[in-house]
Amino acid sequence: MVEERLLEVSLTSADGAIEEGLRPHQLINYVGQKKAVTNLKVFIEAARARSEALDHLLLYGPPGLGKTTLSRIVAGEMGAQIRGTSGPAITRPGDLAAILTNLQPHDILFIDEIHRLNRVVEEILYPALEDFKIDIIIGQGPAARSISLDLPPFTLVGATTRVGLLSSPLRDRFGIVMRLEFYQVDELARIIIRSARILEIAIEEEGALEISRRSRGTPRIANRLLKRVRDFAQVDGLDVISKPTAASALDSLEIDERGFDNLDRLFMDAIINKFNGGPVGIETLAAVLNEESDTLEDVCEPFLLQAGFLARTPRGRVATRLAREYFM
Ligand code: ADP
Repeated sequence: MVEERLLEVSLTSADGAIEEGLRPHQLINYVGQKKAVTNLKVFIEAARARSEALDHLLLYGPPGLGKTTLSRIVAGEMGAQIRGTSGPAITRPGDLAAILTNLQPHDILFIDEIHRLNRVVEEILYPALEDFKIDIIIGQGPAARSISLDLPPFTLVGATTRVGLLSSPLRDRFGIVMRLEFYQVDELARIIIRSARILEIAIEEEGALEISRRSRGTPRIANRLLKRVRDFAQVDGLDVISKPTAASALDSLEIDERGFDNLDRLFMDAIINKFNGGPVGIETLAAVLNEESDTLEDVCEPFLLQAGFLARTPRGRVATRLAREYFM
């Protein structure tokens, strides 16, 4: 296993608590994602004017881009309560039935990692989404009977890093489907400056820009790198994070000027040197790197793809000329 990865998705509990504190609660503090935000505003305003629940909403994109944050903001803007759970947490149809029957009118049900719902549970969801009804079976054997329960009108907000793994009947039941994009450097710098204010860290604009450039277009990574850079500055007795301070801290963390880290380098090195540039299948790469293929697909690949370093072909992953030039 590659040594502990700073850009990893999972959070320690301390980081989790800080992340909660940095989460914007209003649209006005939600930086970037202009297209999604502009459209959402229209849908929210229209639903509110009709006193209806917002249509079901599917948010997809790599981890840490703000899907959970946006779902909470939507609930706030709708003046609705939000109940949160995740695909793997709902193991039995009864679990989902209990959640659904406890919803209040216009509540938001947030299901993270919705691509990991099991099929039996998913089937309960179809009539719930379409007609606000569920069919549950009571009793066993010959005495078993099916009863239909009415649900209040609610909004499902599903989040996923892998929209391709969603079954098409489930996907088709979302009235609004939105893809979150990687953030621009200036947008991430705004997020970093806001977070620094909340965490009472002094940072110069150039320092924030340096961290942004190395954050893979991802707010969660930007916030995390800010905290690590602060550690370096503090130990060096510096009061303010300047550009050179940020750069030297990030160099020490082996995060390069474009935000690539050790796992990216190993990943690209394997394709370029071990498999002669590809194509090579993701499972083979996972085995060679001793990593989960999900981690490679969720965390590593999206950014390498968008940077133009990696191409996906039907026969596997291929390193582009850009990648050979950069990583050789
Ligand atoms: P996801 O659900 O997509 O994995 P989150 O919503 O948990 O991502 O976002 C991770 C962190 O990044 C949040 O705690 C929040 O502080 C920050 N963040 C995400 N999107 C934004 C944004 N648009 N503006 C400001 N901060 C953001």
